Amino acid sequence: MPYNVADATRDMDDLIVRPARVFKEKQGIDVRIEHRVEGIDPSGKTVTVRTASGETVVVPYDKLLIATGARPVLPNLPGIEAPGVMALKNLEDGRKIKAFLRDQGVKKAVILGMGYIAFEMCEALRARGIDVEMIKPRPVFIPWMNEQLASMVKKELEANQVRVHLGQPIERIEGNENGLRLICPGVQLGGDMVLVAVGVRPNSELAEKAGLALGPDKSIAVDSTLRTSDPDIYAAGDCADAFHVVTSQRTWIPLALRANRAGWAVADNVLGAKVELQGVAGTAVFKVFDLEVARTGLSVEEARKAGFDPAEAVIQSRTRAHNHPGSSTISVQLVGDKKTGRLLGAQMVGKEGAAHRINAPAVALHAKMSVEEFSQSDLAYAPPFGPSWDPLLTAANQLLKEV
Ligand SMILES: Cc1cc2nc3c(=O)[nH]c(=O)nc-3n(C[C@H](O)[C@H](O)[C@H](O)COP(=O)(O)OP(=O)(O)OC[C@H]3O[C@@H](n4cnc5c(N)ncnc54)[C@H](O)[C@@H]3O)c2cc1C
Repeated sequence: MPYNVADATRDMDDLIVRPARVFKEKQGIDVRIEHRVEGIDPSGKTVTVRTASGETVVVPYDKLLIATGARPVLPNLPGIEAPGVMALKNLEDGRKIKAFLRDQGVKKAVILGMGYIAFEMCEALRARGIDVEMIKPRPVFIPWMNEQLASMVKKELEANQVRVHLGQPIERIEGNENGLRLICPGVQLGGDMVLVAVGVRPNSELAEKAGLALGPDKSIAVDSTLRTSDPDIYAAGDCADAFHVVTSQRTWIPLALRANRAGWAVADNVLGAKVELQGVAGTAVFKVFDLEVARTGLSVEEARKAGFDPAEAVIQSRTRAHNHPGSSTISVQLVGDKKTGRLLGAQMVGKEGAAHRINAPAVALHAKMSVEEFSQSDLAYAPPFGPSWDPLLTAANQLLKEV
């Protein structure tokens, strides 16, 4: 959606992969849009549904899958409902944002939050010539990120004329005919629109009310077959928790691959197969203007909290062989456990080669490799793609001195 917002000429609906009617026509699936599930009765095995016309219907089930996703967190601030204060979660939000940008001739925007949706929207708004400021109440820019790598991301924003305000609590939002103003003790901020991108929370209230067990961050607790605490109810996607392959604990990391994979696994399991999912490593990538930002596994802080004794190595290398045209800097952080020598996580920032390169340590985390084993991996080399020692191997060799 952010990349669609960046282009005023693109229709938001070109993101629709398969319209609801195709499910019906081609696959015989009775997709009922504009139907809201309002309650689950696990003992009677029914769901109560409110239709668009306000009717209430009761639908029976043999097996139920809850896949209600997540929703944006809206901070409890006076003025958060003002026109022009918006969040981006679904296509309808995307359509509203694009219409607002067009109809109001937005020149200046403020973004609350500094997660990946905030960064992607920042880039999209700048691409449309809009002046952007970003603000967050907490003082640390990207809390999970190694400081050196995070400072590269911050510099990239600033190089694109984005002003970043950290540690600025917001008291309220005021709106008048001249636009919106954010009232903060430390800084004067305002614009024609405010985008709220401070995170999401799971839509797990239906499950909670039905008495199902909850996991981290109030996500719905599921086992490796995606079954909830009720054997006839499954949960998958952003509303459900997952097993973390590094910490061996339950976690909540709402991302698309897990959601998709879990949906398929539930279908198999409902049909009698026994598909078990390994879990997630927290692998994620995003783009901030010309930078690729990537992570997998644990940061130093997360590793410490999970009971490891972490050490890190941070190196700078090149994205192409020495003197190869177009070569640029890539920064890599690897985290390992001093007690066991195990690889725990990786982060990368660079103009190229970071997004796909993160998949190597991601697989190593699934395989529970040690830093030494990872340092012995036979990674590819040719001049246009990196130095003969891949930046990941250089980082692993450094980390070997610490673990
Ligand atoms: C702007 C943006 C960018 C993103 N970019 C990435 C990315 O680059 N990479 C990545 O991995 N992930 C990304 N994500 C996250 C990704 O979109 C989600 O992980 C994924 O869509 C989750 O799928 P889901 O099916 O669990 O939930 P959703 O796609 O949210 O679907 C949930 C559905 O349930 C419906 N629903 C909710 N409550 C009820 C109810 N009571 N009754 C009936 N229906 C209900 C909703 O209307 C919705 O249709 C992004 C998300 C956003 C918002």
